[in-house]
Amino acid sequence: MRIIDELKDAKTIALGGHIRPDGDCVGSVMGLYLYLKKEMPAAEIDVYLSKPAEIFNCIAHIEDVKSEFNTDKIYDAFIVLDCSEERLGEATPIYRKARKKINIDHHVSNPGSGDVSVVEPKRSSTAELLYEMMNPDLIDEEIATALYIGIVHDTGVMRYSNTSPRTLQIVAELIKFGFDFSKIVEETFFEKTYLQTQIMGRAVLESVRFLGDRCIVSMVSRRMMDFYRVTPKDLDGIVNHLQSVKGVDCAIFMYETGTLEYKVSMRSNGKVDVASIAMKFGGGGHVRAAGCTMNGTYHDNINNLSIEIAEQLSHTD
Ligand code: AMP
Ligand code: MN
Ligand code: MN
Repeated sequence: MRIIDELKDAKTIALGGHIRPDGDCVGSVMGLYLYLKKEMPAAEIDVYLSKPAEIFNCIAHIEDVKSEFNTDKIYDAFIVLDCSEERLGEATPIYRKARKKINIDHHVSNPGSGDVSVVEPKRSSTAELLYEMMNPDLIDEEIATALYIGIVHDTGVMRYSNTSPRTLQIVAELIKFGFDFSKIVEETFFEKTYLQTQIMGRAVLESVRFLGDRCIVSMVSRRMMDFYRVTPKDLDGIVNHLQSVKGVDCAIFMYETGTLEYKVSMRSNGKVDVASIAMKFGGGGHVRAAGCTMNGTYHDNINNLSIEIAEQLSHTD
């Protein structure tokens, strides 16, 4: 399916993605925005996202993103990328009012929440899926950069198992545009501020292994975030770091979002299906990377997750 086929009569179009937007979310929303501006120059296109991290300022026209969601506007089409309707956050009412709802995603936990839904869990990223729905002749350096960032972030720089031969073919097409991909990978994916590195160190130092050292967990409290002067955006990468410990099959990282409320991130090497666990607690994601929000004390949350993980590990060697 070409995206344009679904937008034929649309004069006003909105694009949106999930709360706490990651690289794939920002890259795919911006990639599609830049693309539609070229393919449909007469259409009025608005982008709604909660404020992207500064590392994404290298994406062209990122300043066009609207992070104020108060609008009475009824759009001809609203395209939700990289999530289902539930994770749109404050943009949900705008989506619900739209004349046509389109949902493009790659999360196995997403049943599809549009009048038209394209959900392909085998795709590395929403950015990869979007590339397939675009006319390649219209892709330019700016669009390619945005899509490249999406793929890089969701594949951990083309090394997670969601990377397919097709992913790499698309990456090859994208880097032909000549942008400085090496700088982009360094500055958006690997580079951390000193404070981000410090809180990562603290989280690693305070981590605990359990279930025969096959699981690892750590937590960052609000007080710690205040102390290190960091926000949730600064905690990206901690859970992946925990998962890279030898012998660990499943890593859990939580940070406090409110009184007895935690945002939980889980990673696995494939022996545990973390998407199915996250879904039990109202979240979702992929087999090897998933998340949810949990209420209760830190220890209660670990206990509840641990029961599910232990159950799954008992079926493995
Ligand atoms: P995280 O580590 O929380 O950033 O997310 C890991 C993966 O799970 C990403 O692909 C997220 O988009 C997805 N994910 C995280 N939280 C949720 C949620 N509450 N519902 C559905 N998917 C989620
Ligand atoms: Mn995402
Ligand atoms: Mn994604």
